[in-house]
Amino acid sequence: MEGRLNSDQALKKLMDGNKRYISSRSTHPNQTRERRIELKNGQNPFAVILGCSDSRVPPEVIFDQGLGDLFVVRVAGNITGGNVLASIEYAVTHLDISLVVVLGHSDCGAIKSCASNAHFEGNLHDLVSKLEPALEKARKMPGDLINNAAKINAKMVAEILSSSVPSGRVDTEALKVVAAYYDLDNGNVEFL
Ligand SMILES: [Zn+2]
Repeated sequence: MEGRLNSDQALKKLMDGNKRYISSRSTHPNQTRERRIELKNGQNPFAVILGCSDSRVPPEVIFDQGLGDLFVVRVAGNITGGNVLASIEYAVTHLDISLVVVLGHSDCGAIKSCASNAHFEGNLHDLVSKLEPALEKARKMPGDLINNAAKINAKMVAEILSSSVPSGRVDTEALKVVAAYYDLDNGNVEFL
């Protein structure tokens, strides 16, 4: 297994993988039987991805990574909350990961639901309402409301994570939290 990557190395590895993916040159690394066996006694992922549950945005595919590479938390609208935060804290403190990426995407159904002002109840209402602050900011901007809100939401969640992960870990040396945006049209991940 490779040693721990720092946040810049981890970011580059993700960007390189995304470049391969968008140019149809994915190498599908670390997806062999050997890799599975290598990981039997433990994992050493190099990045945390907090992404949307949307089936069109699977992190291992769009970053061209494999088994044991990414610690992935997925929830509609890539929002945060108790269990999400706990999962990320675990990854940062126990798996010693130095990069957290909050990955929003274009045409996000969760954000569209929030923007539609449709009536939701219970858990769905709780989830959708968490996207309202980003939409509120996006309404003051020119351009596509939904996609702007997705970018703003990713940045807001990244800010929350920056201040919520265990103190002392968020600095340029140890841990970087970055927001990113995936474009469904061309597969490109833009780091915001
Ligand atoms: Zn989504």
